[in-house]
Amino acid sequence: SKNAGRGVCSVFEPALDQAARDRAILDSELRCAVARREFVVHYQPIVDLRSGAVRTMEALVRWRHPTRGLVPPGEFIPFAEQSLLISQIGEFVLEQACADAAAWPRDVKVAVNVSPLQFRQSNMFATVARILERTGLAPGRLEIEITESLLMERAEATLATLQALRALGVSISLDDFGTGFSSLTYLRSFPFDKIKIDRAFTQAIGADPASHAIIDTIVALGSRLGMRVTAEGVENATQMRYLADIGCNEGQGYYFSHGRPADELDELLDAGKGR
Ligand code: C2E
Ligand code: CA
Ligand code: CA
Ligand code: CA
Repeated sequence: SKNAGRGVCSVFEPALDQAARDRAILDSELRCAVARREFVVHYQPIVDLRSGAVRTMEALVRWRHPTRGLVPPGEFIPFAEQSLLISQIGEFVLEQACADAAAWPRDVKVAVNVSPLQFRQSNMFATVARILERTGLAPGRLEIEITESLLMERAEATLATLQALRALGVSISLDDFGTGFSSLTYLRSFPFDKIKIDRAFTQAIGADPASHAIIDTIVALGSRLGMRVTAEGVENATQMRYLADIGCNEGQGYYFSHGRPADELDELLDAGKGR
């Protein structure tokens, strides 16, 4: 193994087969990255389809790798989810996102993804309460995005934590809706504030009648249940207009903006004041 030279960590190079070796290297690199705070948080606007106003920014983590550049979360989050690293990365993102949002206009919220494993490993309620207090962000300006896989195990303890977060004023969104196994059951067991329709459905608008039927139904369902509905992955005006026409509350996607670093949000935050 070689010393990284900063005294905090070193990259471990064990003699194993190639795949195991790659995993071990990624694991030790990620540990170093946590210690060196090599993660950055980008923000993507979620737009009210009626007014065009930016109401929420979703926090999306990236790894500023010393040699590989900016690494997208799909390349390290699933791996981090196999160990305690996900909690350390997740807590960093939560704190950074709350600190950044505290400086935005008061009517713009921040949405933070929380991995099911992070949720179970740590005391989520205590962590969120402590971070809100430390950053001074009002609880009503934080949204937690979870996926239904969180509700598949230890559902009772999870529901109690979600209730407690809601009682504090934090809102809870159900992410990637439509991609799991038994979504409707979870809608019955917990009053989500928001449902996010997975981008697979949005991207089939204009091409696939079955996806239209599914989107129409989710929007109607959300409205009946008193939950806001956001469509993810809006990439063009056709999709945006279709969603606005059927009464979908919010859209998110490259049509509006990619994720951007915290210091490049001024123009988007001005849109938070409404148009
Ligand atoms: P997600 O929560 O579904 O986030 C939306 C992803 O879709 C983001 O990818 C975003 O950049 C991408 N996206 C947004 N608009 C469009 C569009 O119009 N077209 C297409 N094709 N893609 C669009 P990103 O940033 O690579 O994140 C991927 C996933 O990584 C996220 O999916 C989320 O599951 C996870 N992730 C990101 N940040 C965090 C985090 O801080 N903690 C945890 N636990 N997971 C995170
Ligand atoms: Ca999300
Ligand atoms: Ca999503
Ligand atoms: Ca996703």
